[in-house]
Amino acid sequence: TAFIDFRDVWLAYNDQFLREGHFAVEAIDLQVQQGEFIAIVGPSGCGKSTFMKLATGLRPPSRGRILIDGQPVNGPLKISGMAFQAPSLLPWRTTLDNVLLPLEIVEPYRQQFKQKRREYAERARVLLAKVGLAGYEDKFPWQLSGGMQQRASICRALIHEPKMLLLDEPFGALDAFTREELWCTLRDLWAEQRFNVVLVTHDLRESVFLADKVYVMSKSPGRFVVRRDIALPRP
Ligand code: ADP
Ligand code: ADP
Repeated sequence: TAFIDFRDVWLAYNDQFLREGHFAVEAIDLQVQQGEFIAIVGPSGCGKSTFMKLATGLRPPSRGRILIDGQPVNGPLKISGMAFQAPSLLPWRTTLDNVLLPLEIVEPYRQQFKQKRREYAERARVLLAKVGLAGYEDKFPWQLSGGMQQRASICRALIHEPKMLLLDEPFGALDAFTREELWCTLRDLWAEQRFNVVLVTHDLRESVFLADKVYVMSKSPGRFVVRRDIALPRP
């Protein structure tokens, strides 16, 4: 069975839109297998962010049904980790404390946070080292470059070992060199842990480099087209 399963999913952002038949996304059918890394590309306004909100349960669909790992979605952080174009680290927290944040919020970690803080901090250190941030644990966000902040935000997204990583233009604000470095970092993490990834991007090269499958979303209904032909094999 599919890990991400959208069956005929429609979303109108409010009741008036629903009555008028004005849907932000229409008739989405999408099945993603366990451990797959998919990218979604498409023009502004085609519904990519809406798709992400549906996949996390931030918005329930107006019609249709969504199962993630066989279950109805149940709110943003439980099963997924998220990172966006802006790293949005909390400025008053160190890198380490920023990365720990989901463990302070998400069950079952939350309840044990105080007792297990050392263990959790160790886990965060290991993750930070994997993305090249060893030695930066106690720095504040303003002491890090944009690329480093983005690395930290990816660690924050993964610290609670989510089954699914949702990335919305995560590298959009970075220079080309930093971006390509981070592609490799992300690919290594994914190869090691095999969480599902949904990457929304405007960068076709990025989608082809990273994803198993690239979906092109369009404004017309039945909106997903799989572009296997532009998904090149990885080295
Ligand atoms: P993308 O992320 O691909 O740019 P969106 O998912 O943001 O696309 O938007 C899809 C459609 O839904 C667009 O027509 C957009 O105007 C509309 N939309 C997005 N967010 C809202 C909202 N909060 N309220 C009403 N309409 C929205
Ligand atoms: P969030 O940042 O929580 O995802 P949204 O991007 O959905 O929020 O929208 C932020 C605000 O902008 C909301 O109040 C929403 O209603 C409004 N908005 C966004 N896109 C549109 C749109 N296309 N038409 C009408 N309102 C919109």
